[in-house]
Amino acid sequence: MTITCPECGAEFQLDSIEVGEIIQCPECGVELEVLETDPVKLALAPDEEEDWGE
Ligand SMILES: [Zn+2]
Repeated sequence: MTITCPECGAEFQLDSIEVGEIIQCPECGVELEVLETDPVKLALAPDEEEDWGE
């Protein structure tokens, strides 16, 4: 399925995802938590304080 990163807008492919899974955007490296899979809904993973800014 195609995932769209809510942070940078990049689209990437994953074979399968599950609710609660943490995935990482290959483009900006942000970690995303899967909230729903049909349709896909993502949220920024909570533990990201190391990577704020650049
Ligand atoms: Zn991204």
